[in-house]
Amino acid sequence: MKYLPLLVLMLALPFAPAAVAESPIAIAVHGGAGTIERGRLSEERELAIREALEKAVRAGHEILESGGSSLDAVTAAVEILEDAPEFNAGRGAVLTSEGTVELDASIMDGGSLDAGAVASVKGVRNPIQAARLVMTDSPHVMLVGEGAATFARNRALKFADDDWFITDFRREQLEAIQSRQDAQITELSEDWYSTVGAVAIDGEGNLAAATSTGGMSNKRWGRVGDSPIIGAGTYADNRSCAVSATGHGEYFIRHVVAYDICARVFYTGQTLAEASDTVINEVLRQTGGDGGVIAVDLQGRISMPFNTAGMYRAAIHADGRLEVGIYDDEAE
Ligand code: ASP
Repeated sequence: MKYLPLLVLMLALPFAPAAVAESPIAIAVHGGAGTIERGRLSEERELAIREALEKAVRAGHEILESGGSSLDAVTAAVEILEDAPEFNAGRGAVLTSEGTVELDASIMDGGSLDAGAVASVKGVRNPIQAARLVMTDSPHVMLVGEGAATFARNRALKFADDDWFITDFRREQLEAIQSRQDAQITELSEDWYSTVGAVAIDGEGNLAAATSTGGMSNKRWGRVGDSPIIGAGTYADNRSCAVSATGHGEYFIRHVVAYDICARVFYTGQTLAEASDTVINEVLRQTGGDGGVIAVDLQGRISMPFNTAGMYRAAIHADGRLEVGIYDDEAE
């Protein structure tokens, strides 16, 4: 009987709780990339932008820290940036050629590859919530225009009117564009793109990405960019990484940027830094596509490359370090 304790142990072992290997948590947000050179922004505006980025990344990180999901973290972070008037998403979005606001957003769950998006939607206060409901409460991936608004209304999402969305800054921006052009050309957001986005990994190793935008200033004909297109502006896959993009949407669509970065990591074994840098600084740059991405991989490593003078960005790395940056010379 001297082996009895050993026998008991062997029988009990399969039922013992497995040691759960906690994944590192990490999150990054962006508020757009472009010709953001020192001195172009007023001190006041620069401070407001840095504060909003920090607030958004901290809110998402708190959710991750308390055991919440990466989907909840990216949704919360993007909502904060949608509500901040400094960025081209939700409140403060750029205006169409008719002076209206048409919003695009998308979200993706890296565990299930479920995704949701809305495009050219009007009046929905937080389009990222609508995108998330498309993912969770409909059999579809993308809803557009009136239909997307009806869906959001039926799901009791908050609506807002022009007073909420349209800022003086955007009105003046549109006037300036229309007065100096023949209005045939869609303006590249006065040389910068201030779409917002977030990527995160949670304690269970799930990746998520979300992106929200007003698109491009003076857009017409129902133009839609990369932000609501899964694979172009947003992608997440637990086998590789999560990516949210900002920049000249047409190029990001043609090069399927977010998916290409994840595919490189998955199929070629490139690190996240190599893959995202190659796509932004070689593939896109060679064709004239301006912009950048934020990305996070399974180890919680964050990359935020851009080929423009600056990108509004913030991150809380796996070691807890906070990074907030605008200019190129602040890049790590
Ligand atoms: N990517 C967005 C679009 O093309 C613009 C932006 O990043 O600000 O609609």
